[in-house]
Amino acid sequence: MKKCLVVGAGLSGAVIARQLADAGQFITVADSRAHIAGNCHTARDADTGIMVHTYGPHIFHTDDREVWNYVNAFATFMPYQNRVKTTTRGAVYALPVNLHTINQLFNTALRPDEARAFIAAKADITITDPQSFEEQALQMVGREIYEAFFKGYTNKQWGCPPSALPAAILKRLPLRFSYDDNYFCQQFQGIPKDGYTAMVARILDHPRIAVRLNTHVRRDEIKGYDHIFYSGPIDAWFGYTLGRLTYRTLEFERFYHDGDYQGCAVMNYADLEIPYTRITEHKHFAPWEQHARSVLYREFSRACGPGDIPFYPTRQSRDKDLLHSYAALAAQETHVTFIGRLGTYRYLDMDQTIREALDCSRAWLKGAGQRPTA
Ligand code: UDP
Repeated sequence: MKKCLVVGAGLSGAVIARQLADAGQFITVADSRAHIAGNCHTARDADTGIMVHTYGPHIFHTDDREVWNYVNAFATFMPYQNRVKTTTRGAVYALPVNLHTINQLFNTALRPDEARAFIAAKADITITDPQSFEEQALQMVGREIYEAFFKGYTNKQWGCPPSALPAAILKRLPLRFSYDDNYFCQQFQGIPKDGYTAMVARILDHPRIAVRLNTHVRRDEIKGYDHIFYSGPIDAWFGYTLGRLTYRTLEFERFYHDGDYQGCAVMNYADLEIPYTRITEHKHFAPWEQHARSVLYREFSRACGPGDIPFYPTRQSRDKDLLHSYAALAAQETHVTFIGRLGTYRYLDMDQTIREALDCSRAWLKGAGQRPTA
């Protein structure tokens, strides 16, 4: 029987704590915030009773059947397909870029093969090995689509021109020559009926798991645990001694509306002149509920400073060098495992986070007997 400390009550921490507790270990989960579930935390708005995605939209989507079965064991998932709209230059289009988007933008009535040839003719074929987001976009969809939907939004989201960003960011988005406007391509997609926080609460609900909220864990004050699973920022664990990894943080401006404000859950704003990236109308994430009023969040992205909540790892080349140095320090911490988005400084979707947490806890349990004691 071992005693383990899990730092962070988000998806990584909760899944690892549960796996270990199920295997007979005693787990303390500590989180610096006043709630569990990390950035997928949901809570009912006090005025309207609408379930709000407190840190921005979270739609569960995965191709991983085991992960899908796992979350369904702890929550009732309602079918939900993410259909995002975007406003650019005063008109509304469907995302991801699909046949409808193309026909609307160019005022055409192209069929799939015609649209494919039309976009291929617009693509910049002189770019053979795209290095930046901008090059990737110009090579994939050409200048009009890039400038209408990606250039301004990406600039606001990441705080720099797309020419300074890696091509990989755009590869998250599909380009479709059909009218399929499902934002995601994964086989399983849904939203927990009672929100993500209720799901995480059920994962953590185990007699061998103790949860401590509002608890800041300091590396030099930890005593009496056989192992630590740390899902906080890797640079914070080392007291930022080598410097800070950079993140984007988000700010949300809440407002209310009587009735339906925008007719969809997520409306992106692609124009650079509009300071926010998107507006989320939370009640549309729960179409199985009836609400006359509406609560909405305008979402602003900015550089993450000390004391802000880190959202998106920026992963500039300086960050990658720094991460390398922190990873070398982390490798010496034989009694600590670094996990999750912040612990490994990577953008992770919820399903990837759970997959890694399952794999990590299984690997540790296999070797648990040989682990050194802290
Ligand atoms: N993006 C864009 N316009 C949009 C939506 C997304 O330019 O309307 C870009 C933006 O750079 C974003 C990336 O595509 O970071 C990936 O989009 P995704 O929806 O995956 O963003 P995330 O889930 O990371 O917020």
